[in-house]
Amino acid sequence: MIKKVLKFGGTSVGTIDRIQHVANIVSRECKAGNKIIVVVSAMAGKTDELIKLSQKIADDFNKRELDVLLSTGEQVTCALLTGALIRLNVKAKSWLNWQIPILTEGEHSNSRIINMNVNKINHFLNEGVAVVPGFQGISKDGDITTIGRGGSDASAVAFAKLLKADTCEIYTDVDGVFSSDPNKIPVAKKIDKISYDEMLELSSLGAKVMQSSAVQTAMMYDIPLQVRSTFTDRKGTIIFDQQNIDYSKSVTGVAYSKDDAKITLIGVEDKPGIAANIFEPLNKAQINVDMVIQNISSDQKTTDITFTIKRDDLLKTREILKINKKIKYKNITHNDKVSKVSIVGAGMVSTPGVTYKMFRALADDNINILAISTSEIKLSVIIDEEKTLSAVKKLHTIFDLD
Ligand code: ADP
Ligand code: ASP
Ligand code: MG
Repeated sequence: MIKKVLKFGGTSVGTIDRIQHVANIVSRECKAGNKIIVVVSAMAGKTDELIKLSQKIADDFNKRELDVLLSTGEQVTCALLTGALIRLNVKAKSWLNWQIPILTEGEHSNSRIINMNVNKINHFLNEGVAVVPGFQGISKDGDITTIGRGGSDASAVAFAKLLKADTCEIYTDVDGVFSSDPNKIPVAKKIDKISYDEMLELSSLGAKVMQSSAVQTAMMYDIPLQVRSTFTDRKGTIIFDQQNIDYSKSVTGVAYSKDDAKITLIGVEDKPGIAANIFEPLNKAQINVDMVIQNISSDQKTTDITFTIKRDDLLKTREILKINKKIKYKNITHNDKVSKVSIVGAGMVSTPGVTYKMFRALADDNINILAISTSEIKLSVIIDEEKTLSAVKKLHTIFDLD
């Protein structure tokens, strides 16, 4: 008997018909003799709708209450799917965060699952299907928490780990992980197998088909993941340890995100400690700095420093820089109409010339590179937001991914 965690995303449970369709998939799995834990997201668009409602009350709606509000999305799908299963004569029962309980730590809306009591669920699996909510947990003080957007993937991996499941299947609205977003790049190809490292880079750099913290946990505990479609029977993508993967291509995928902003400090004093003085207060305010470029000063006295941050942090960052007495600069500029385009591939390690090929291709299309960052298996550039899709298409083609 195999123990499976099946996670269904928002589109998969977006309508009553779809919930009934999911109930059929679960029923089939159950009849095949498997022990099934189903993790559900809120119906598509529900979480956004709830956020908008809160903003009608206040832009800075209380964070504790926001988590209470957002967790209702997953509560609805838990009950509807369980009801649909019972109607199909499948024994099923739902549990919410506090009933299990799913223990989290960290701030509201950005908590992490650290433990859960799996006894009740494990016991029930001998009789029927357990339906549980993604995205939500409960703090040690008993407050309802949520674990970040797209967090149901991380919930599924946490259930798989703590319930010692044999497999964790992520059912979604595409056939698997593609070489780029198939809804934007129609020539993108489905990837049959991908390593945890590459998937982690892709998802952190914008491929939202898997949430990055879910991939990170799966990698840490060696939980193989399968991403597959709710709507077709096609084979999906297996995400697992990298041995056995054929790196015949240098690049596995192209990802992009539009949530960055770029700040430039012009005419900063060029002396030891200046970078530390700029970035220390940002770090204290939990602002994540991604790329940093420092120009070589021509007069040996001043320099320009450019760095990127999340777009949501732009105002806060500018405020912090303004009141920072430890740094002097002539001017500050920012650009929030930028995007980050990245190529990812474990094969890059052994292929020379990938960097040059990427820069040449962008230059040929008159795309200006505003900042660059690299790691062993990824290369990211910041470019004008307008040029995002043409850059992604171009890179997809020149790295033989079409
Ligand atoms: P779910 O609601 O099932 O969690 P998401 O919307 O979070 O689904 O993720 C699936 C979406 O991810 C797809 O519809 C697709 O547009 C997008 N996506 C972005 N990059 C990729 C990629 N490389 N491969 C597959 N899908 C991708
Ligand atoms: N419902 C949550 C969201 O929309 C969690 C999820 O769907 O994974 O972000
Ligand atoms: Mg998702």
